[in-house]
Amino acid sequence: MSNKNYEVAVIGGGIVGCAVAYYVAESGLDCILIEKNDVASGTSSRCDGNVTIVDKDPGFDSHMSLVSQELIEDLHQKLDIPFEYRKHGSILVCDNDDEMQAAVDWVKTQSEAGLKFNVLDQKDIRNESPFFAEDIPGGLECETDSLINPYLFCYSLIEKAKKSFGLEVKTFAEVTNITKDTDFTIETSNGNVTAKKVVNAAGVWAPFIGKMLDIDIPIVPRKGHILVGSRQQPVMMRNVMEFGYLMNKFGRERVADKRTAEHGVALVLEPTESQNFLLGSSRQFVGYDASIDIQVVQTIARRALRFYPKMDDFKMIRAYTGFRPFTEDHLPIVSEVEEIPGYYIAAGHEGDGISLATGTGKLMEEIINEKSKTIIPREPLRFDRFEKTKVLS
Ligand SMILES: Cc1cc2nc3c(=O)[nH]c(=O)nc-3n(C[C@H](O)[C@H](O)[C@H](O)COP(=O)(O)OP(=O)(O)OC[C@H]3O[C@@H](n4cnc5c(N)ncnc54)[C@H](O)[C@@H]3O)c2cc1C
Repeated sequence: MSNKNYEVAVIGGGIVGCAVAYYVAESGLDCILIEKNDVASGTSSRCDGNVTIVDKDPGFDSHMSLVSQELIEDLHQKLDIPFEYRKHGSILVCDNDDEMQAAVDWVKTQSEAGLKFNVLDQKDIRNESPFFAEDIPGGLECETDSLINPYLFCYSLIEKAKKSFGLEVKTFAEVTNITKDTDFTIETSNGNVTAKKVVNAAGVWAPFIGKMLDIDIPIVPRKGHILVGSRQQPVMMRNVMEFGYLMNKFGRERVADKRTAEHGVALVLEPTESQNFLLGSSRQFVGYDASIDIQVVQTIARRALRFYPKMDDFKMIRAYTGFRPFTEDHLPIVSEVEEIPGYYIAAGHEGDGISLATGTGKLMEEIINEKSKTIIPREPLRFDRFEKTKVLS
């Protein structure tokens, strides 16, 4: 065991843990990041890279996303390793006239909240991509949305924090137990670490880390499948979702065929910087089973053809799955834990962790440093908003 006693130990080297470690180290605290595998080996490398407001509920959710977008833009200037940042805005497409009406209302609500949303008509959609179906009635765009490569972003954050702020990173060190005396002792498969403060940023595995100090954390995995298209003709430049994605995400009623509804499938198409494209996605509560379900893959492909029928001969090269850290109210936990002074949680970002990681990291730094003014309000993200004894099954 090293004799060093860190001020802060962050457990989990996904996008959330990396962002927390970056801002904590930048604030001058002696910080170590502990990860059981390699950096970004969990959900943060098994997802898309959309940094969006387009799919957020108006209000606190949108505000936290906007603040996070501004922080990413700032990091785009500051970090040394480029992370494929592209700020082209993103679009939502509608399947039918009812959705189109809902989209017009959505734009109105978001615009009233000061966000940069615009309605797109049928012609606008055709101008976006020659591959779109002729009968898409329209959609909407959010101008501030961007795309990143989440995997590169994690490395970019920690490389800068190591070089400029003295962050230490301990990979291939699985946390197996935590005890608390005056300070915390964190036992890992690669030696022990002691620290005055601990941040549990272990994504869908945060409940297991919580259990080590008898804390019930109400996060469950919500599995998603993604298909990867090979590089062929450029499809389009910006991220596309269908309006039904919002319905799935928030569990609202949606008209869809049996398979689409059962697999929670809605179109998401993300063009990567190299012009591969990622096609998704599904939403299922099936525990921690990461296997690929070919039926879900087929449902995703079929749904994509509704919006892109001219892509029916495009080659797909592989598929992967990831686990969204789901909470019941769709907001993450970014909070101290009152019962255990010095213990914090930054987890539960469901399908929004890429969008919200920077806001989370900055807020956690401010909480740890006991700043009275924070970048976003802390209240909606407090851990004690959940009944302490209740854990979702
Ligand atoms: C299909 C799919 C598409 C998505 N698309 C988007 C998107 O476009 N935009 C968006 O904003 N969000 C998206 N998300 C959500 C986003 O990917 C997650 O919210 C985010 O990656 C969660 O990051 P995290 O750091 O909390 O968790 P993780 O990335 O899972 O990091 C947690 C880390 O903790 C480590 N760990 C676990 N147990 C231990 C232990 N005992 N000891 C040490 N380390 C441990 C793990 O190895 C892991 O690396 C998507 C998710 C999925 C599944």
